[in-house]
Amino acid sequence: MSKDQNEFLGISENGKDTCISCEVETKYAFDTSIEYRTHYVEGAGQLCEKCYNDITGKLQQSLANLSDDETS
Ligand SMILES: [Zn+2]
Repeated sequence: MSKDQNEFLGISENGKDTCISCEVETKYAFDTSIEYRTHYVEGAGQLCEKCYNDITGKLQQSLANLSDDETS
């Protein structure tokens, strides 16, 4: 497999999955089952801890804002 293909698939040159957001190398090998991963978003891909916290934090904030609107 060429390096270009690896980059396309989101796999680092060490055979690790890269974060779909910031492309940092994660600790998970590309063939690690998602059952054994954390910070993995089904249907989207592997995120690093920082991006996962950023994104889920924003989502939760949006949801909180939505429920605030409903109750006010
Ligand atoms: Zn990231």
